[in-house]
Amino acid sequence: MYDVIVIGGGAAGMSAAISAGRSGGRVLVLEKNKKMGKKLYATGNGRCNLANEDVVLTKHYASWDTDYLSFLETIIGENPTHKLLDFVHSLGISTYSKKGYIYPMANQASAVVWAMLDELSRIGVEMITDAAVSEIHSEKECVYVKTDKDSYKAKTVILACGGRSYSSLGGSDMGYKLATSLNLKLTNIHQALCPVITTKDLSIAAGVRTSAHATLYVDGMYADEEWGELQITDYGLTGIMIFNLSSCAGKALGSKKKVCLSIDMVPQLENQDIREIFMAAMGRTCLGFLNGIINDKLARLILNECNIDASKKTDTLTADEVERLLDVLKNYRLEVSGLKDYEQAQVCSGGVSLSEIDADTMQLKQYNNIYIAGEIIDIDGKCGGYNLTFAILSGIKAGTGAYAYS
Ligand SMILES: Cc1cc2nc3c(=O)[nH]c(=O)nc-3n(C[C@H](O)[C@H](O)[C@H](O)COP(=O)(O)OP(=O)(O)OC[C@H]3O[C@@H](n4cnc5c(N)ncnc54)[C@H](O)[C@@H]3O)c2cc1C
Repeated sequence: MYDVIVIGGGAAGMSAAISAGRSGGRVLVLEKNKKMGKKLYATGNGRCNLANEDVVLTKHYASWDTDYLSFLETIIGENPTHKLLDFVHSLGISTYSKKGYIYPMANQASAVVWAMLDELSRIGVEMITDAAVSEIHSEKECVYVKTDKDSYKAKTVILACGGRSYSSLGGSDMGYKLATSLNLKLTNIHQALCPVITTKDLSIAAGVRTSAHATLYVDGMYADEEWGELQITDYGLTGIMIFNLSSCAGKALGSKKKVCLSIDMVPQLENQDIREIFMAAMGRTCLGFLNGIINDKLARLILNECNIDASKKTDTLTADEVERLLDVLKNYRLEVSGLKDYEQAQVCSGGVSLSEIDADTMQLKQYNNIYIAGEIIDIDGKCGGYNLTFAILSGIKAGTGAYAYS
């Protein structure tokens, strides 16, 4: 009998297995993909943004009715970046920080996967790939785990099945099905860190990338804001700043609330600056005025929004038209009708409810011998290393807790 069986060989599962194995346990990892860590290879555009120098708890989301901050604080605790880096460095991975974002020195996500696999082998953790767990059954003395080929028995089991996003990298709802079979409460699950779909047709400006500031409103109330590079597509908006607003937008849409974005297309200019540039452009066409400050396609989108002809001279605009034009530049309103699908979502928001988990050990409250870690839990973070930090630190905690109980 194993001390610990880990279901899922992703960032959380491998970290859990390493911590249980280092403590001396007999550990098995069951992974449904043909290779371990498939999603990890793709992180950070293949460079793996492991962590952030500044882990801010409020850069994470959970269901709105949950006190997730104290839960999260218990799991990642004080100085999470330090803890994360201690673990990563213990695997022989050196790191560097660029603008606060931490990457492996080799600049390759594969280096992190290989180091984890080396460590798993070194400490004698058994790994079986192509092994999808379809059943889990907890009894007083042990837990039974079944794949389509075999059955296994362990004193404790760790659920680290990840979320539904990117099926090509192993994302699936199998973990949620296992959780449901254990009678665990699941919160609303939806895509996050993904593009948003807008009701307005933006195709005239598709392909434009511009520096912007976006504010998200839910039912007319301020919800969140982001600065960065905005990318306009024919269906809506994308770019890291939009990814970072998508989790909140998804929760609101799931609750049938109205979600709007207000985009400042010229965040580097104050209203007064724009007025001065406008005054200096007297006699030019409206398109000519806008071409002086924003991309041509964007200028045409804004003129369409204001119902102003591109060739109209600035000095022939009515006072209302001038105000409208200047307002739309700083406050372009868009309604969000949905999110792009799971194949374009870097993470899943929602999952196993925090109310099911003892954050001190990652033990399930309903089962002494089942633990949980990673993205399958109702916690997701913004871009910047927050999701891997949570996956790895919750994995380490689950591995230590499961082995201690075994
Ligand atoms: C393209 C992309 C880029 C990203 N970049 C970053 C980044 O730079 N920084 C960052 O912090 N986050 C990033 N993320 C998010 C991050 O990768 C995830 O949050 C993290 O990998 C979650 O780890 P996990 O172990 O919980 O889940 P996963 O990594 O998804 O691992 C779960 C594993 O469980 C396996 N599994 C599922 N069900 C079963 C079953 N029934 N039986 C056996 N095995 C099963 C799956 O095949 C999978 O291998 C990125 C995500 C994507 C998709």
